[in-house]
Amino acid sequence: MKVFTYQRATTPAEAAAAALRTPGARFIAGGTNLLDLMKLEIETPPHLIDVNGLGLDQITATQDGGLRIGALVRNTALAADERVRRHYGVLSRALLAGASAQLRNKATTAGNLLQRTRCPYFYDTNQACNKRKPGSGCAAIAGFSRQLAIVGGSSACIATHPSDMAVAMRLLDAGIETVRPDGAARTIPIADFYRLPGNTPQIETALQPGELITAVTLPKPLGGTHVYAKVRDRASYAFALVSVAAVVMQDGSGRVALGGVAPQPWRVPQAEQAMRQGAAAVSKLLLAGAKPTEDNAFKTTLVQRTLAGVLVQARDNAQKVTS
Ligand code: SF4
Repeated sequence: MKVFTYQRATTPAEAAAAALRTPGARFIAGGTNLLDLMKLEIETPPHLIDVNGLGLDQITATQDGGLRIGALVRNTALAADERVRRHYGVLSRALLAGASAQLRNKATTAGNLLQRTRCPYFYDTNQACNKRKPGSGCAAIAGFSRQLAIVGGSSACIATHPSDMAVAMRLLDAGIETVRPDGAARTIPIADFYRLPGNTPQIETALQPGELITAVTLPKPLGGTHVYAKVRDRASYAFALVSVAAVVMQDGSGRVALGGVAPQPWRVPQAEQAMRQGAAAVSKLLLAGAKPTEDNAFKTTLVQRTLAGVLVQARDNAQKVTS
């Protein structure tokens, strides 16, 4: 691990200003991803800004009937919150599908959103990787790409975003509240938060230098039946090959978002218009323009079959509630 300096921030604006002052500085809270990256020298921040003391660990009701989730709320606490379980079940289920109990006890809401890809070549510093070292190439495209993206990638990068929680947040139209180094606050809709890789896969979000996430807001509950299905190579502590988050209404309309298939949580409005036509129609629209490799072409079928299972589960759950 490279040598770094360390400070504890006392206010969000102070943390953001400190991050801007030292190029390459990183915020640290749970550290469940960053510390691994530092040990492997994939991330070599010269300065760490500890944000654990900022008091951003509350879940509160908003005036419009939604929830504001502090950036430092741990994944375990968020999944267990009574309001989240009752009204945003897809979020609770997605959180519990992620990582391990130990990691969820440490991992924070903001950190979960910002975790880096698990592309194996990103973690191997002997391999070319445009995300780790811009301009060096992408070893994954002609390499072992079973886990990687089938849609939304580019000729520079086909990494997937690894978060389960972010897929549910995208489904629910969350907002990302931030503070910038000048103290100004803003809210970024999650639909605009993640960037596709294009020619700059190292730039992953809309955050500006120094900008700190302070909270995530959820709009008022959607109702409907909430399902999160995750398909992975082993039953626990593995990242998704494919995941499907869905909210399905009594009349068959609803929303759907995918994980494990794209560089960002993947949602396509036109696909949701076809919800009543079944999984095949929805999957076709969700994956329009997909460019799978030979290794990961199976994900196209897997999306359709997982979604079909989710729609059956949603219908069964809705019937149990009404009977
Ligand atoms: Fe790096 Fe992206 Fe290529 Fe993986 S897919 S090696 S993260 S550039």
